[in-house]
Amino acid sequence: MTDDTQAAPTDLVILGGGSGGYAAALRAAELDLSVVLIERDKLGGTCLHYGCIPTKALLHAAEVADSAREGEQFGVKTSLHGIDMTGVNSYKDGVTARLYKGLQGLVKSRKITYVEGDGRLVSPTAVEVDGRRYEGRHILLATGSYARTLPGLDIDGQRIITSDHALRLERVPESVVILGGGVIGCEFASVWRSFGAEVTIVEALPHLVPLEEESSSKLLERAFRKRGIKYELGVKFTGAEHAEHGVKVSLDSGKTIEAELLLVAVGRGPTSANLGYEEAGVAMERGFVTTDEYCRTNVETISAVGDLIPTLQLAHVGFAEGILVAERLAGLPVVPIDYFGVPRITYSEPEVASVGMTRAQAEQAGHEVVEMTYDLAGNGKSQILRTAGSVKLIAAKDGPVLGVHMVGSRVGELIAEAQLICNWEALPGEVAALIHPHPTMSEAVGEAHLALAGKPLHAHG
Ligand SMILES: Cc1cc2nc3c(=O)[nH]c(=O)nc-3n(C[C@H](O)[C@H](O)[C@H](O)COP(=O)(O)OP(=O)(O)OC[C@H]3O[C@@H](n4cnc5c(N)ncnc54)[C@H](O)[C@@H]3O)c2cc1C
Repeated sequence: MTDDTQAAPTDLVILGGGSGGYAAALRAAELDLSVVLIERDKLGGTCLHYGCIPTKALLHAAEVADSAREGEQFGVKTSLHGIDMTGVNSYKDGVTARLYKGLQGLVKSRKITYVEGDGRLVSPTAVEVDGRRYEGRHILLATGSYARTLPGLDIDGQRIITSDHALRLERVPESVVILGGGVIGCEFASVWRSFGAEVTIVEALPHLVPLEEESSSKLLERAFRKRGIKYELGVKFTGAEHAEHGVKVSLDSGKTIEAELLLVAVGRGPTSANLGYEEAGVAMERGFVTTDEYCRTNVETISAVGDLIPTLQLAHVGFAEGILVAERLAGLPVVPIDYFGVPRITYSEPEVASVGMTRAQAEQAGHEVVEMTYDLAGNGKSQILRTAGSVKLIAAKDGPVLGVHMVGSRVGELIAEAQLICNWEALPGEVAALIHPHPTMSEAVGEAHLALAGKPLHAHG
């Protein structure tokens, strides 16, 4: 890696080396643009170091713990002797370290100038790092996001924590209250329950994973209840104070819950304060940088991508936006991203996966909607795995599939097919004609389409 002051302006100066920033850097370099990539922490950003990858490693360790605990169900004599968090963390950190090394190698091999340090936008065409100025014909803002909290709720990193602290915990807490029943809250609830903790989720909206189709939320709630994960829905948090052995959390229902830890998972805010954005004239809304569908800000020389802009806060969205910007700047033809076509997964046990529209969104878009729910009870592989859930299809009457919504162990792996179905606007009959391998969970996707096409196979009712 190099840390150079530049003489001539670069084609593209990127502020932030997370999913959005580094994807743009890699693609731009591939297209022969000169690139400076500025990062103050670690190349790879939230996803690699504090998000997707470490949480999924924890979730895998949780699955191994469940398998050990539940072996007898399958006639295998196993038992869970405990969780060694040092071992879990070293496995998790090992995964991140290998990917980090690979990414550093990629950036180096594409001749990207990597600059370590805190950057600040000082003009529509320049970023300053430690007194050095990096001029670019174009600037990409990709400074990502941070874990939000609520007014009056102080994150102390000990008893009241965010996902950043949760990923560094060196013990399994005995009990946790999780504020926020979105993706991050549900994933940590799942991990800690598998590791043996008492978990209560507090969600102000009426359901867990409230952005999902309501039936998916309800299936997740049922599965969590069976796993002993408690939740308080439709109630607001009113305060938290230190108690003798942890925290006492008060709710507007009058209830109080005591736990060793309070995880605050109420969403992520854009990292945009004091970075010179306003001074350069970049339009913003609630701290998010606003862009058009080509990720262009109102300033001609400045684009923005990732969690910093008000699109879906997902790593693969950041990748896609970064690539779009690089290709646009290189003069390639680009098309705007269809955000309904982006797959979304909550990697809890069970998983929740979806792509396309919910029923409400499809109706709001003016479609006459038909739906079909295929229960995993009819799917051989799901029975082998002992998982419950469903594949639900939302389709236009006599038209294409508009949305696929799934719940069950491992359904995240099925979303790639569902994504092709929705994005290629396949008709139910076209998918029904495709043979799915038996016995796999992917058959449930095929069976749901067979049923919607009027020729159900392993489906009751
Ligand atoms: C716990 C958790 C789990 C998640 N799990 C998933 C998942 O499973 N799948 C998924 O798709 N998404 C997941 N996400 C979301 C995903 O991590 C983000 O959507 C993604 O990282 C956004 O990429 P980004 O490039 O916009 O921002 P970031 O990854 O946050 O990168 C921004 C970078 O900019 C740097 N930066 C900021 N300011 C400056 C500055 N002034 N100078 C220099 N550098 C600066 C930061 O250090 C950071 O590295 C998860 C997030 C969390 C928190």
